[in-house]
Amino acid sequence: MLDSNSGGTARRSLLKTAATALGTAGLGALGSVVAFPATPASAAVPPGSVQKSSIYNFDLYYTATNTSIPESGSWWFNPDFHYRLEQWLASLCAANTTIWHPKGKIHHVGTYGEPNEFPAHPAARAIDLNSIWVQKASSTGVSREVDFYGGHQAGGAVRQRYWATVASLSGWFRHVLHYYDGGSHTTHVHVDNWVSGNAPSIFSTSSGTQVSMVQACLTYIWKRPVPIDRSWSNGGQTDIQSRWVLNSVLGLSGGLTTSQSNWQAFLAGSRRTGFGIGS
Ligand SMILES: [Zn+2]
Repeated sequence: MLDSNSGGTARRSLLKTAATALGTAGLGALGSVVAFPATPASAAVPPGSVQKSSIYNFDLYYTATNTSIPESGSWWFNPDFHYRLEQWLASLCAANTTIWHPKGKIHHVGTYGEPNEFPAHPAARAIDLNSIWVQKASSTGVSREVDFYGGHQAGGAVRQRYWATVASLSGWFRHVLHYYDGGSHTTHVHVDNWVSGNAPSIFSTSSGTQVSMVQACLTYIWKRPVPIDRSWSNGGQTDIQSRWVLNSVLGLSGGLTTSQSNWQAFLAGSRRTGFGIGS
């Protein structure tokens, strides 16, 4: 399911332009792409794309489910998108420095591909995340700290870390599709920079994706349950309870729609509280 703000003729045109510009010259490189075996021969890697085997200090593995065997390799990324992913992950590690070493691995379900879905994938500006494995300060091996495959359904602290990480991603990227976007997003989280580019996200009350993420954070992290119905109304429960977080916990005035800094503060607070490292 796509976010209500996604899609559009302009994006399809851009994709077509990029594919036409490269022609068939890039097809030879497709042989090393592990993700999406169904990618048709007509697809072409966008010009300027780079192959990466890691994000920050985290090695990438293709893993469709939590029981499939992880496959190492390299995947196509738009360089600006990859750099932004590195910035996000470095910030998440820095915030969790007392419990995480800044290294581990990421299981994902692909970056470049999916020509029939949202166009960020054919543009190599998206990744579908399965899980994040981190070396904790207390051990030498890595453990799955964030589970996007079944983490929401697992409940408890696993579910809190799921939403804390989605909140963190949602500050860096405008388009983060999650459990309440339905479809395949119940078993992976989709991240792209199609809308927000290299800038921090802003909050749109017309985005069912962002609103339901806020509703999930209020319900599962802040313990202020609200209906998770993807809809926003000024003065409604989601507005009231998010103001409680901003005003009573974070010491700020106004609501989520007051300023971008309030939106970002709510996300940062949800990340801290969801990981159990303060509010
Ligand atoms: Zn995706």
